[in-house]
Amino acid sequence: MPCRRLAMTVSNEGSSGTSDAFLRAQVDAWISSPRGKRLLDQAARNATRHGCAPPDFATIQLPPHDDRCDCCQEIQVRREGAKRAHGLLQLDHDHLTGAFRGWLCSKCNRGIGLLRDSVAGVQSAVDYLRHECPWLLPYRSPDEQKAWCVEHPEPPSPRLQKLLQAAVRNAKRLGYAPPDGATIQPAHPDGRCDCCQQIPKSGRGLKRQLVERYLDYDHKTGAFRGWLCNPCNRGIGLLRDTAAGVENALHYLRRDYPWESTYPYPEQ
Ligand SMILES: [Zn+2]
Ligand SMILES: [Zn+2]
Repeated sequence: MPCRRLAMTVSNEGSSGTSDAFLRAQVDAWISSPRGKRLLDQAARNATRHGCAPPDFATIQLPPHDDRCDCCQEIQVRREGAKRAHGLLQLDHDHLTGAFRGWLCSKCNRGIGLLRDSVAGVQSAVDYLRHECPWLLPYRSPDEQKAWCVEHPEPPSPRLQKLLQAAVRNAKRLGYAPPDGATIQPAHPDGRCDCCQQIPKSGRGLKRQLVERYLDYDHKTGAFRGWLCNPCNRGIGLLRDTAAGVENALHYLRRDYPWESTYPYPEQ
């Protein structure tokens, strides 16, 4: 079935055909246009720099005319007076096979990349945010935490106090709820990230590893969620910091969209 967006392209340009061959010719024309060339060159350069497969030109499809992100479904708006050399959307492709996946806003593109660019990586973020982890999180339930705080009224450690102050400053700057200090619990003793379960590798020794975990909390309620590695923390934040936002990325990667399907060549 020809997709909504390509059909729109075709009708805009006054053509009579919507066959696969015609649509393919439209895509090929876009690939050799100056904008198409620039975007594809950039994607190929990035792939070489990061050591992943370059985008496979034969699978690429036209960017949507309404600048709607294929993941969050938000329409990207041009900033007033912005000099825009490139499209508002970024080309997303499978970094293992090179196959085209869709056109994403910068937040979704970076967020999915940080969550390991894979269904498994994004799935663990959804499980973490929904508290449905198949692995065990070492935390007390909210009620147990309240009881624990009554039994342990002593002030938090100097390090935690410093961290909290920094988090409160960030929350004020970005307009979030500040973290609720009473809900914060100590991290997993071996330094692993509560989302991907990996132990951050960049630090040397346990002390550095512990420093490199980030306090994660719900930006609406201020409630503590866990301790994350840098990529998981940033990836979840970019995917709107909610389970629903990260779930959109999962639908997108699995191609089981609850929204209207976008592309006519989804199977590679
Ligand atoms: Zn998006
Ligand atoms: Zn992680």
